[in-house]
Amino acid sequence: MLINPNSLWVGSINGIHAVFDPQIQVDQSRWVLLYIINQENVVAYRRISARADAKKHTSTHPQFEIYKQKYSDWLTAKSVEEIEALKHDLRRKDAAALADIARIEVMHRKHLSIDDHSYRGISEPTNAFNIRDSICFNCHSKVGSHLNLKCNACGWMICEKCGTCGCRYHIAKQSDIY
Ligand SMILES: [Zn+2]
Ligand SMILES: [Zn+2]
Repeated sequence: MLINPNSLWVGSINGIHAVFDPQIQVDQSRWVLLYIINQENVVAYRRISARADAKKHTSTHPQFEIYKQKYSDWLTAKSVEEIEALKHDLRRKDAAALADIARIEVMHRKHLSIDDHSYRGISEPTNAFNIRDSICFNCHSKVGSHLNLKCNACGWMICEKCGTCGCRYHIAKQSDIY
């Protein structure tokens, strides 16, 4: 594929040198494709995490042109079909995430309906600072490692295994159900 060198972003993500090319991305996807210099290949990276972890190299960075060239060589060797296959993979990940969200929403509604808590919707994180890890008080599985969905009523993250949020925390503790 043809390179558009002026649109390239060169920098590091969590200390790993990478190139971001807008022309190989999928609009609205939860993931971005990042070319990782050391791997000489692209990886899918959560878009909100990439935004938070990215540090841009200026054009005076000693490796700036070298990294650009490495990416350029990689892209030039790829056919349009190969790039489309990578984009297709991101779309598939998005479709899987949507299916997961639908499944979690059903469990979450069911969890709230136990004692008639109202459902106010769920939200996906808008930036990486909303992401944290925790343990579900109901089923004790790890919360927050994957989709980081939040309950709009209490602001807690929703357990992806059982749909629990914080809305019923005090009731659950009092009645010693959990
Ligand atoms: Zn749980
Ligand atoms: Zn809640």
